[in-house]
Amino acid sequence: APASDAQIVSGELRTADGVPILISININDPAEIDALDPATAGVGLMRSEFSVTSLADAANEERQLAIYRRVLEQAGDKPVIIRMLDIGGDKPLAGLEDLPALSNSSLRGIRLLLARPEIARVQARALLRAAVFGKLSVMLPMVTFPDEIDRMRELFREEAEKLGRRALLHRMPPIGMMVEVPSAALMLDTFGSAAFFSFGTNDLTQYLAASTRDDLDADAGKAAPAVLRLIAQAVKLAAGKPTSICGDMAGDPRYLSGLLAAGLRHFSVAPARRPAIRSAIIGLNADGTKAAGE
Ligand code: PEP
Ligand code: MG
Repeated sequence: APASDAQIVSGELRTADGVPILISININDPAEIDALDPATAGVGLMRSEFSVTSLADAANEERQLAIYRRVLEQAGDKPVIIRMLDIGGDKPLAGLEDLPALSNSSLRGIRLLLARPEIARVQARALLRAAVFGKLSVMLPMVTFPDEIDRMRELFREEAEKLGRRALLHRMPPIGMMVEVPSAALMLDTFGSAAFFSFGTNDLTQYLAASTRDDLDADAGKAAPAVLRLIAQAVKLAAGKPTSICGDMAGDPRYLSGLLAAGLRHFSVAPARRPAIRSAIIGLNADGTKAAGE
């Protein structure tokens, strides 16, 4: 039987066989936080590159703080995962595109942040200060090797110390990672320093299937069995750490059965995708099979 509206509004979304499932939202424009309703677990991905669109923004700690603070305050006691700038590849930053660094297309995400620490340090300070105003976690994009997390955490510690010397309120947020590089997914048990994992199937599919972002729509369906197998293996390697999925696959009901079978229980989707995913979950068992009578 379909879950009643009352069940959904209380946030108690369950599969047909009674396993609790969390639905969070992905937000790009920070104004999308308005879509956070009582039935939604929180923000599973805020893409900060939509708030920080130029080198000038990237250098502006107070502006970033104000944006992150507003989102956290509006989310109240619900958790918010803000992803650090994922620049490079398909995501430019105005003012940075002419630098020789970006002509090397593998320099993106966390690698770019570590190569341009002056950008990362400003964002780290804004996030450390914003963390006081809500339930913030920080997520790192395109992580490939464990030492990248260690280096970013050290950068956060250094900036926290500076804030302390300036007597500015701050709090160290949990730091987790996107799982969107195939080698990281295969080696997930070596990422002990990550506080949580979130699968990014857009990049995972692209890099796994030798595709491109532009061809993804055509290739995603064909590549899905390989992506699902990789995710299922990686979930086992996550060793019980909080694990979710925020790539576009999470918002497509066609893949829900496979994602449940892979062990995922937390889906972060664009606000518009929630109704379809909620109603699909109600008709499935936690192992991905169809509920009797469906
Ligand atoms: C992904 O790669 O699946 C993801 C969620 O990140 P983005 O789409 O921002 O690259
Ligand atoms: Mg990605």
